[in-house]
Amino acid sequence: MDFKALPKIELHCHLDGSVRPKTILDIATKENIEIPTYDLEQLRKLLEAPLECKSLVEYLDRFNIPIKIMQSKESLRRITYELLEDAAEENVKYLEIRYAPTLHTEKGLTLEEVIESVLEGIRQGEKDFNIKANLILSCLRHNGANSASTVVEAGKKFLGEGVVAVDLAGAENEGFAKEFVDVIKVAREYGYRVTIHAGETGIGVNVVDAIKLLHAERIGHGVAIRDLKEAYDLVKENNVTLEMCPTSNMQTKAVKSYEEHPLFKFYKEGIRVSFNTDNRTVSATNVTGECESIGKVVNMTYEDYKKIYMDSVDAAFTTEEIKGYLKTLI
Ligand SMILES: [Zn+2]
Repeated sequence: MDFKALPKIELHCHLDGSVRPKTILDIATKENIEIPTYDLEQLRKLLEAPLECKSLVEYLDRFNIPIKIMQSKESLRRITYELLEDAAEENVKYLEIRYAPTLHTEKGLTLEEVIESVLEGIRQGEKDFNIKANLILSCLRHNGANSASTVVEAGKKFLGEGVVAVDLAGAENEGFAKEFVDVIKVAREYGYRVTIHAGETGIGVNVVDAIKLLHAERIGHGVAIRDLKEAYDLVKENNVTLEMCPTSNMQTKAVKSYEEHPLFKFYKEGIRVSFNTDNRTVSATNVTGECESIGKVVNMTYEDYKKIYMDSVDAAFTTEEIKGYLKTLI
């Protein structure tokens, strides 16, 4: 199958993990920011997680350099715009970008400015490239519920203007959800949709919590439901869509190989899944690459791909009008 030519949906893509290395060099030079190397190839190596990465925590280390150069309105706008360009180039027709606004206030930007700058990049990218996009605000678990609340409050006025959902991200400890029940409830009342990183590296019970306590409509990763029947059944019965990111899961040691990755098996068993990169630069991939990696090791037909595409459209946090349009593309 020519995956590149097929229309694609991406629901799980971190902005700070998807910055072009060349752009990092440009911005570091222009804004006089110190980074460990100014050699493009060396920089690329520092940004990419090796396949022999020891853990999720080591994987998350790769974000330090991009975060350093994502501290101005112009850099946020540009990086977002370029991400839309890169995604459109491989026929992603709808993209949900996520990032943690609290990481971009080191040089004095307010959370509102951080969000507005990314929305500006989305609007310009939508105008110039054949793609639609929306924004998910990630709250970092290790920063706690108060920090999450500041993000939810700051993003409130942008609901309906490109901000569509809230997410909890970062290193995953068992039982993290309880602390965030109140803030996610408030977010839902404001109109945010909810997706939660859970079950990424082996803790299936976090998926149960994310659905039962936080009312997650989608789960980032969810690989660990394969080992916990309660989580598996809950995902299936509630039509929760799993945003799956095979290469990232290899790098964080959630799975050992593409053969072992449960994406296609889950799909065959009636669970809704979608193909995502997680991070285009850190995982050195794109959605085409993720489809090819799984397509190589399973017997995926066009009808299979189409069903996964349609499920991804259904799970998108967008209007019925845009979903209708996306469904005409395949
Ligand atoms: Zn993620």
